[in-house]
Amino acid sequence: MLIAALVIGGIGVVAALGLGIAAKVFAVYVDPKILEVEEVMPGANCGGCGFTGCSAAAAAVVKGKAPPNVCIAGGFEVAEAVGRLMGLSVEAGEVGVAELGCKYGRDLAHLRFDYDGIRDCNAAALVTGGGKVCSMGCLGFGSCVEACPFGALYMGEDGLPHTIKEKCTACGTCERICPKTIIRVQTPSRRFTHVQTSDDCVAPCQATCPAQIDIPAYIAAIADGEYEQAVSIIKEANPFPLVCGRVCPHECEGACRRNDVDVPVNINHLKRFAADFELYSGKRIVPPKLPSTGKRVAIVGGGPSGLTCAYYLARLGHEVKVFEAMPKPGGMLLYGIPEYRLPKKTLAWEIQGILDLGVELKCNTKLGEDFTLDDLVKQEYDAIYLAVGAWDSRRLGIPGEHDFDGVASGTEFLIKRGLNEETPVGKNVIIVGGGNTAMDAARTSWRLGAENVYLLYRRSRKEMPANDIEVEEGEHEEVQYHFLAAPIKLVGDGGKLKAMEFLRMELGEPDASGRRRPVPVEGSEKLIEADNVFSAIGQSPDLTCLDKGEVGAKLNRTRWNSIVAAEGTMQTDVNQIFAGGDGWRGAATAVEAIRDGRFAARSINKLLLGEETALPKNWYEKAPKLPGVDAGVELEKSERAGMPDLSVDERRHNFEEVELGLSEEMAKKETERCLQCGEVCYRGFRKEAAS
Ligand code: FAD
Repeated sequence: MLIAALVIGGIGVVAALGLGIAAKVFAVYVDPKILEVEEVMPGANCGGCGFTGCSAAAAAVVKGKAPPNVCIAGGFEVAEAVGRLMGLSVEAGEVGVAELGCKYGRDLAHLRFDYDGIRDCNAAALVTGGGKVCSMGCLGFGSCVEACPFGALYMGEDGLPHTIKEKCTACGTCERICPKTIIRVQTPSRRFTHVQTSDDCVAPCQATCPAQIDIPAYIAAIADGEYEQAVSIIKEANPFPLVCGRVCPHECEGACRRNDVDVPVNINHLKRFAADFELYSGKRIVPPKLPSTGKRVAIVGGGPSGLTCAYYLARLGHEVKVFEAMPKPGGMLLYGIPEYRLPKKTLAWEIQGILDLGVELKCNTKLGEDFTLDDLVKQEYDAIYLAVGAWDSRRLGIPGEHDFDGVASGTEFLIKRGLNEETPVGKNVIIVGGGNTAMDAARTSWRLGAENVYLLYRRSRKEMPANDIEVEEGEHEEVQYHFLAAPIKLVGDGGKLKAMEFLRMELGEPDASGRRRPVPVEGSEKLIEADNVFSAIGQSPDLTCLDKGEVGAKLNRTRWNSIVAAEGTMQTDVNQIFAGGDGWRGAATAVEAIRDGRFAARSINKLLLGEETALPKNWYEKAPKLPGVDAGVELEKSERAGMPDLSVDERRHNFEEVELGLSEEMAKKETERCLQCGEVCYRGFRKEAAS
């Protein structure tokens, strides 16, 4: 017994000695800092951060290979604690949430996901190459749900994964496991720097919108009474919903699948409804902003394009300064579009929301006069965005144009009004042109008391580039249209304009634009009495501002006198200089200028972060043509919500806003008409096949 005890004790001593020696020989030194950092981590060892566990994550932080907010599970408090230990400050950034990129085609989910025996998304994708109906749709086996380390995903009754926002830590595990990359961790900045590609599931309306607004998503938010959310969704692509909800030509409605059923959803006025909600709620929705990057960007031009670029760059944490030639920002939205379509106060409120993000604005400061591009380069701005618009008006080029009072371009006339200067008009006013400027000059003249407002356009009504609603409202406001008419001479007496002589035209062969060329009819001259003539036959950029200095000389110009920049990246021939809006594309629309501003912000951000500015190869440069409602599908017809407006009598002699906005009840009802389309599917899709 004693011997046995001695033997066991001896073994114990030897083992202890051995272990002691081994510990000395194989000792692993652990940096106490790593232990301290690991100590403040929650110890979940979830792997959500991408490291094998908390020790590995802590070691990465101490070695500078991971940021102090590496711990996904710990949230902001843990990040702050780690930051304190490391002597770093942590600023609150955006909150990311996993989101399914395809939320459409709900009724079809069970049909699409019938893969014999397979119960895993990756396996299904390997075997079948993807969804049965839609090439980019969710496969619906829920591999992401199983993989989520935080139980933040579940399969809904619609057969699609849903996120429990409170549980999601934005770790990205779902994103990594999804074979279609259709579930992604989304943050506002990831969304607003995104450019549509053929991998995205977009509705026809969204694909057609130049700004690429997620239209079905904001309509769904309005339907749920989530108006703030609707505004936030719109502002991820367009920071001017109050403006665009009033003046956008809404190409999106032309692409709406409801056109195959009855009439399109009133998409634009739903946008205005959501934006008006923010305006009248008295509470501004303040968007999240990333911590400061210390980078500085100069923007020349405070119109919609420049201000859009400023808005997104500020949200990305860059310091932005806008230089504007006029006394106030807004560009042609302020100085061109009249008050009765876009109240100045409404515009100012929308712009203030952009400036509140910390954007610096310097008005009455003109490039080419008060400073040059060389100055901006000397001041070490990291990038420059040129958004100078198209402020040069084309003249009629007919005898008498420069000889009489009362003759001006439509924009000169409207800009004077925008500056609150006197703009008296006589009894007979003639406008020449067929675009929005012509319509605005005509409707403004009528409000100022002109008895006869004539609009001469050399083609037919069908070819008029003005928004349809403008032409229609012009009819109500007694504008007398003379289609197929072109001016040839102004006639006057001692500096006083008396009349305009014009010729009848007829339409000949199509020209380069595809429109039939107007051809004069010999001997058809006519005279109309005139006290004023406003020409509105086109605007182009005034690029004399680039003439001074060396940098401006390096920027190439097109034969239409616009700045040369690459489509999509908006990058000019000078690496750090970008251009967009009317100054790049020629006189166009607000929503296109806004699009350019956002695209430029995306590229500038990439440049400042040292990344490639190039767009993904499969980006949608032009809206894709998407299929309509399938033949044989019966969808219920319904009436579109009409916009309430002022009666014609109420409009005369004042500049009150004409369109009054949809009521909440009207807006909610209108949302029910939306088919909530995806790329190839829509609500009600092949119901008969599903049943
Ligand atoms: P702008 O809005 O022209 O802004 C350019 C800014 O740059 C201006 O503020 C200008 O002062 C400033 N700037 C210019 N040169 C300099 C310089 N050298 N230094 C500093 N600052 C400078 N679009 C629609 O979508 N719907 C409509 O109904 C509609 N109606 C219109 C009606 C009229 C009368 C006009 C003229 C335009 C209309 N448009 C409409 C077009 C729309 O307003 C423009 O497409 C849009 O404003 C272009 O935006 P932008 O920022 O590129 O240029």
